[in-house]
Amino acid sequence: MTPQQFQHSILTWYDQKGRKNLPWQQDITPYSVWVSEIMLQQTQVSTVIPFYQRFMQRFPDVETLARAPLDEVLHLWTGLGYYARARNLHRSAQCIAQDHESLFPNDLTALMTLPGIGRSTAGAIRSIAFNQPAAILDGNVKRVLARYAAIDGWPGKSETLKKLWAIAEQLAPKERTAQYSQALMDLGATLCTPNPNCPTCPIAGACRALAQDNPHAYPGKKPKKNNPVRHTYFLVISKPTGELLLQKNPPEGLWGGLWIFPQCDDMNAVETFCERHGICTASRQVLPQRRHTFSHFHLDYQPIRIALKTDTNHAIYTSNDRYWYNHQSPRPLGMPAPVVELIKAATRAL
Ligand code: SF4
Repeated sequence: MTPQQFQHSILTWYDQKGRKNLPWQQDITPYSVWVSEIMLQQTQVSTVIPFYQRFMQRFPDVETLARAPLDEVLHLWTGLGYYARARNLHRSAQCIAQDHESLFPNDLTALMTLPGIGRSTAGAIRSIAFNQPAAILDGNVKRVLARYAAIDGWPGKSETLKKLWAIAEQLAPKERTAQYSQALMDLGATLCTPNPNCPTCPIAGACRALAQDNPHAYPGKKPKKNNPVRHTYFLVISKPTGELLLQKNPPEGLWGGLWIFPQCDDMNAVETFCERHGICTASRQVLPQRRHTFSHFHLDYQPIRIALKTDTNHAIYTSNDRYWYNHQSPRPLGMPAPVVELIKAATRAL
């Protein structure tokens, strides 16, 4: 199949079968493409839709996002995971507002200098929003092209990735770039899925993986390794009136900028924390250990519920980075999923 035949097949299929009603396919702008592309990284469409709608309602354009407090951006990201994406969106919005007069650049190099915008996201913004030629290679497209051209190897390896980009560039059209990018993404999301529906595929006749009768072999799997396990204690400290103590993580690193419970490495550190802060407890309860899995390690966390005797524990509440969270009138803050779950459990128990 020539690149032109490939494009024609994909576009004809898209015209008949492609998805055209997703929220980010209405009123397409560089901003809407950018936000949706970032949200869709590592996350399924059905999960993204409500997050995208809430986000766009609150931050309808790049200027509004640039002016917003990071806490609010992280708050609207709570539950979506991979919070570096939200921090980068916020920083990039500020760069676009300050350095580009709130207008998105349309060339790949300038787009890729913005925090969190890689080659594929830049390609998506350029092809979909500006209708300019550019290749894309998100997770779904990697799967389609690895199968189409029978590219061996895990796409996380630079050698494999290089081959996939070469094919993506070779196949990308000069016209109808927006529809083509959408079509490729749609094909990967709806048809060339992990369990592909090859009989209905518009490029089945030229697909090498299908010719080998082995689409499942592509793309190559990530080499298996046992992720390490880290341990921590979360102190779920509550006032008699029910407020829970949260503290803000430093802006970078794991759960950067998010609000979490005070953490201790071991029980000795828990005792030291309580002594240092003059904590008078009415009760203390060690709850069952839970696990939260990140892409590169597991976090086993042991919640310890500490109910304060009195309301006047000022020593704990001494900085801007600590906050008594009131579930009846919560401030918009970003919190990781384990903290959200523990807050729900703690407030149910009140
Ligand atoms: S023929 Fe099957 S494996 Fe090949 S691209 Fe189409 S859906 Fe994917």
